[in-house]
Amino acid sequence: MPLARLVYASLAPAPVSSRDLMEILEVARFRNRKDGITGLLCYANRRFLQVLEGPPEAVCETFYRLVRDSRHCEIRLLDFRHTANRLFDDWTMGFAGVAEITNDIVAKHSPSGDFVGFASAPDAALAFVTELGPLLSSGDLAPAA
Ligand code: FAD
Repeated sequence: MPLARLVYASLAPAPVSSRDLMEILEVARFRNRKDGITGLLCYANRRFLQVLEGPPEAVCETFYRLVRDSRHCEIRLLDFRHTANRLFDDWTMGFAGVAEITNDIVAKHSPSGDFVGFASAPDAALAFVTELGPLLSSGDLAPAA
């Protein structure tokens, strides 16, 4: 089955609470399971970085819904490519928050040394999520309280 991977960055208009993150993840995981989508959602400092992977049409349709969601703005498509393998096949939508997004791993990849830098550096963003994924324990992670 053909697969595609999409990476985007966005900004939350205001800080997002654990409860609001949980709500986003609950809907995302429910929809993604039905749509054959897997991926990773990162959140830190009002910035989201998300990977969606799955059948190309499902990935695009999910992204079209996402861009209409007022819970984030300044959405930047960083990467869309066809791929042979999923990076996050264990997760209907994994989550990485401040506990997982350590200064070391951010500094290693981000050209500006902070999480914000990924929004303008597609290759760095992809390298970051590729390294971060296997470091997280497998299964759908809930956001830290
Ligand atoms: P409905 O639930 O019918 O909502 C209608 C509209 O309102 C849509 O434009 C929707 O985006 C928006 N909306 C829904 N709830 C809220 C709210 N609480 N506040 C403001 N606007 C709202 N969905 C996925 O399927 N997969 C994902 O991986 C995924 N990841 C997400 C990551 C982020 C950072 C965010 C903010 C949202 C994510 N979503 C994801 C949710 C997605 O944007 C849609 O809300 C969801 O897919 C339901 O789509 P719907 O058309 O059925 O919308």
